[in-house]
Amino acid sequence: AKSRMEDKEGEKTLRSPICCIMGHVDTGKTKLLDCIRRTNVQEGEAGGITQQIGATYIPAENIRERTKELKADALLNVPGLLVIDTPGHESFKNLRSRGSGLCDIGILVVDIMHGLEPQTIESLNLLRMRNTEFIVALNKVDRLYGWKACRNAPIGKAMKQQSKGVKLEFDHRLTQIIAQFKEQGLNTELYSKNKERGETYSIVPTSAISGEGIPEMILLLVQWAQKTMIEKLTYSNEIQCTVLEVKVIEGLGATIDVVLVNGVLHEGDEIVVCGFQGPIHTTIRSLLTPHPMKELRVKGAYIHHKEIKAAQGIKITAQNLEHAVAGTALYVVGPGDDVKELKESVMDDMRNVMSRVDKSGEGVFVQASTLGSLEALLEFLKTPAVSIPVNGIGIGPVHKKDILKAGTMKKKEYKTILAFDVKVTPEAQEHADNNGVTIFIAHIIYHLFDQFKAYIDKLKEEKMKEAAKDAVFPCVLKIMPNLVFNKKNPIILGVDVIEGILKTGTPICIFQREIIDIGQISSIENNKKRVNCAKKGQKVSIKITGRNAEEQQKMFGRHFDKEDELVSHVSRDSYDVLKANYWDELTNEERTLADRLKRHFSKYEMC
Ligand code: GDP
Repeated sequence: AKSRMEDKEGEKTLRSPICCIMGHVDTGKTKLLDCIRRTNVQEGEAGGITQQIGATYIPAENIRERTKELKADALLNVPGLLVIDTPGHESFKNLRSRGSGLCDIGILVVDIMHGLEPQTIESLNLLRMRNTEFIVALNKVDRLYGWKACRNAPIGKAMKQQSKGVKLEFDHRLTQIIAQFKEQGLNTELYSKNKERGETYSIVPTSAISGEGIPEMILLLVQWAQKTMIEKLTYSNEIQCTVLEVKVIEGLGATIDVVLVNGVLHEGDEIVVCGFQGPIHTTIRSLLTPHPMKELRVKGAYIHHKEIKAAQGIKITAQNLEHAVAGTALYVVGPGDDVKELKESVMDDMRNVMSRVDKSGEGVFVQASTLGSLEALLEFLKTPAVSIPVNGIGIGPVHKKDILKAGTMKKKEYKTILAFDVKVTPEAQEHADNNGVTIFIAHIIYHLFDQFKAYIDKLKEEKMKEAAKDAVFPCVLKIMPNLVFNKKNPIILGVDVIEGILKTGTPICIFQREIIDIGQISSIENNKKRVNCAKKGQKVSIKITGRNAEEQQKMFGRHFDKEDELVSHVSRDSYDVLKANYWDELTNEERTLADRLKRHFSKYEMC
């Protein structure tokens, strides 16, 4: 049951909006985060900013201080801003909270020198999909030619200091980028000119290096959040909490890092969390936040709290958390709550993802750091361009038991673990090495796919080399009578490939009333150049070497003559190898020829 918290004046209390930073790689997401964390107090005082678990908290006083020059302090009524520390997609995808995005508001970073890039568009689509409000930070304005730095100044003020040339270049680039957004169906405008906020998205020019524009960026975020999200930001006692990460900490055991979006958590609260082996029902042993003093933080000392109110990043210690699944919701068992029901709903996200595993029983194993990244990876593996079957999934480090499972696959390409952003225990690695299981490790989905694809190609190539010994490609050759260079041992002739493909290694025979094997193609020359293969319509000279004493006796003019067609000897076995490994490479006509020859020879073989 929701119960709105009201303060003494009877006004609704707001919680801090939660913000994430998205955008293409190298646009300056990390640098912007650093910049937001820093205060403009030159001495480097903390300025009230607190480093939380997985997030940075910027209290209202700090925002007021930093935006003083903008004369907007009176308008602040949220306690602060909580910025999620992991920039990029993963943070966004992982932070699911009961089906909706955890972030209230986003910063979409665009490099002013590069404009929209592939991941900008991806980020844009993610933000739209989750209906998350956002502003655009047009970063790296200091890279404009001739930019005069005005450290940490509002961008409006900094712009006034710039030369005409800088302003012109800025306008030109801005216009282009607005047009690019328009192509994506998004109306954008420079924040100071934006009269239709809500329909038109605001662009704030920034520099994460010299700090221009950061005041406007922070102010816009907070203003926009408190203007449009009062309902969402109204503090309630209803717990809304998402597990960001599961970590084993020396002395604490398995802990979970969570973002508490709404409500209060207490020491001793009974909680239910999604676990990889079923729901986890446990009791909060301690609620921890990092020590504000950096030196202590390095040593891993935490502050213990009896209770913590949203919005906050917190580390929770409790029993049985080792199988908790990152990226899922945490529930508190309240009075009158049905634990069974909570256990059901906590597993919903998990079931959703589990249902994507192939039922065929053959496929690779996928291991990821969080449910969100696992989901993203499974989605990716499923796309038609990739299409890799998945037989098993897991979250967290790769253990020996995972190797054992992968080892049961029949096909070598499926004795494989795709490990995304997770560690592999030394024991697991050793076991993999000894049991022919290959582990691919990457932190970017695309890299994982590239590695796996290269592996599959290598396997295929090896298999082909292996099979080439036995596969016989179908061909029919006509002898060119005036080009008989050597009649016997080896036979060297000019031929016309009238059907199929001629390859070195192919056993050649003559069809008369019976089959006369005359040897194997040991070399092919086309215009005096050695080649491995010749196609229908080509005229080449071939060398045929007898594979045994009998074949070595075979002679042009005695055992066969210019009227005889030379044909590759397709046996039933060689046909099967051809079909299993090379069928895709053959044209329809070549396949028909292979079928015909096989049928023909098998009649003889049966006699
Ligand atoms: P991310 O991949 O989006 O997190 O990008 P980073 O924050 O790592 O930045 C990528 C590179 O761009 C780094 O070399 C930064 O120093 C640089 N960079 C980031 N922001 C700015 C900026 O505002 N101005 C300039 N000149 N360089 C920047």
